[in-house]
Amino acid sequence: MTKQALLTGITGQDGAYLAQLLLNEGYAVHGVIRRSSHRGVEDHRLRWLGVAEKVRLHDGDLTDLSSLLRIVREVQPDEIYNLAAQSFVASSWRQPILTANVTAVGVTNMLEAMRLEAPKARFYQASSSEMYGLIQEPLQRESTPFYPRSPYAVAKLYGHWITVNYRESFGLHASSGILFNHESPLRGVEFVTRKVSNGVARIKLGLAEELRLGNIDAKRDWGHAKDYVRAMWLMLRQEKPDDYVVATGVTTTVRDMCRIAFEHVGLDMEKYVVIDPAFYRPAEVEVLLGDSSKARKTLGWEPKIPLDALIKEMVDADLDRVTRSAAD
Ligand code: NDP
Ligand code: GDP
Repeated sequence: MTKQALLTGITGQDGAYLAQLLLNEGYAVHGVIRRSSHRGVEDHRLRWLGVAEKVRLHDGDLTDLSSLLRIVREVQPDEIYNLAAQSFVASSWRQPILTANVTAVGVTNMLEAMRLEAPKARFYQASSSEMYGLIQEPLQRESTPFYPRSPYAVAKLYGHWITVNYRESFGLHASSGILFNHESPLRGVEFVTRKVSNGVARIKLGLAEELRLGNIDAKRDWGHAKDYVRAMWLMLRQEKPDDYVVATGVTTTVRDMCRIAFEHVGLDMEKYVVIDPAFYRPAEVEVLLGDSSKARKTLGWEPKIPLDALIKEMVDADLDRVTRSAAD
């Protein structure tokens, strides 16, 4: 019997890589897609990976429980990966209520749809290292207390605990992956790694003269999305649902990440980076560093792609994209 997987957020970065992985593992892959007036472009990441024709998309929205009930009833998924969210921290101060509706209450909608229509399915919740925020321990692990620092992180904390609660209340196979930042050529261009790779490509090709950034002293534990979606899948392979930190265990400043990108094309970042307070945040997460020993031991997971290979891949992809769009 072919296993059925249902992904919310299939049009996002992780959704695209996870869809590719699940197709390679022999799953039938279904995704929730929200109605847009830009029909035809929302699946650009799936197309970039060459999997758009192989997935089945269902019209729905995380804030519309009736749509989720209908989709889960139709698909009868064996596995549900809840990746959809308003996922950009900076936007969460500008749209705090939408962020709460989608990123927090949306998780309950998805869990309710599963509880009512497919209670035997296995559920993955996309939790975030942003929940650690103002860090309470130098190395963050599953037992580290949370201290969220943005409306996004507060909403993710709700999503995390409601997943734990549904597991404990209803015996659902619901797991939460506390993933540290992960990037790829398919990362949204508003996030700092992709903003840098795209900016470097444009400067190198003579289309821009500077790159404006905010707090470049912030530190993140960055990995590759391709490695991280494998951890999601491995969590649902376990007999018992649980929570896992997924991280590389290496933290790097935005400044040093940026230097890797500029040096890759033979440029000196000091000549191009302009600090612009417009990109400072009302409250900052200064440093994140994850301890993924539990995932490594229990899931047999480990990251394969180091930061400098990731950043070079992203810059090369943007050089290619910018060159092609300039030729159009
Ligand atoms: P993206 O921002 O790339 O993708 C978000 C997805 O959610 C998109 O498919 C988007 O659809 C969808 N979405 C947004 N709002 C709704 C809604 N109301 N109803 C249905 N779908 C909706 O995020 P990533 O792929 O990077 O991340 C995946 C998940 O993991 C997110 O929940 C994110 O918060 C979380 N996470 C990510 C980390 C990272 O470093 N990438 C780290 C830790 C957690 P559309 O294409 O229409 O906008
Ligand atoms: P986040 O960890 O989910 O907020 O991921 P981001 O990639 O958006 O931000 C990572 C870090 O880079 C944060 O500490 C930001 O404050 C910092 N940063 C510095 N300059 C910028 C910028 O211009 N854009 C973004 N998105 N982040 C920046």
